[in-house]
Amino acid sequence: MERRFFADAMLGKLAAWLRAAGCDVAYSRDIGDDDLIRRAKEEERLILTRDTLLARRRWARENHFLVEGDRWRDQLRQVTAAFGIDPFAGFLTRCLRCNEPLAGAASESVERLVPPYVRSVTDLFRECPACGRVYWPGTHRERMEGELRRIVERQ
Ligand SMILES: [Zn+2]
Repeated sequence: MERRFFADAMLGKLAAWLRAAGCDVAYSRDIGDDDLIRRAKEEERLILTRDTLLARRRWARENHFLVEGDRWRDQLRQVTAAFGIDPFAGFLTRCLRCNEPLAGAASESVERLVPPYVRSVTDLFRECPACGRVYWPGTHRERMEGELRRIVERQ
């Protein structure tokens, strides 16, 4: 079964990059420890945390992964290695903002949101059903993919 995570409030950047890698990662910037543990338990998610106090809490104790390092690149390398995540298998299949799996979108339906130039070169649009953000292939995507490759392939 695919592993599901709940990233603590300090790990926003890691959460976004894990989502870019296709992982199911819940994250809330303002969530308190009690709510985080309760939601992680309800949603059967493994807590990703840097907080050793949180990690010692009831239920969290057996259901967390302690993330090391202050830098998100190191954190990402650590988590993908620990869980054997191939970050390219599901690359950009989830919304970076809300973690929702993206759905295919027709060129006409994204007309208002996508620059005309982009629509003239591709029709591979994906849309977040929750927030409506539209994703498409292009230089931004390539930059992210390159960044990801540098991170996970560095030994
Ligand atoms: Zn979204």
